[in-house]
Amino acid sequence: MAYVISDDCTACGTCIGECPSEAISEGNPYKIDPDACIDCGACADVCPVEAISPA
Ligand code: SF4
Ligand code: SF4
Repeated sequence: MAYVISDDCTACGTCIGECPSEAISEGNPYKIDPDACIDCGACADVCPVEAISPA
């Protein structure tokens, strides 16, 4: 399991610095590498448009 980013992402960049495992990469939408994500939820907590959720 890993968190996923939906098309609601506005590419604001807020989440990327919060990830402890560097699983998030830039793009439109931003993407989470499911093999690197450790399911901590830190990114979801800071997303201003609630675009990140558990898969
Ligand atoms: S849930 Fe945690 S490990 Fe997974 S992408 Fe978000 S911040 Fe990174
Ligand atoms: S914080 Fe939310 S809107 Fe901003 S880049 Fe991350 S997923 Fe996209």
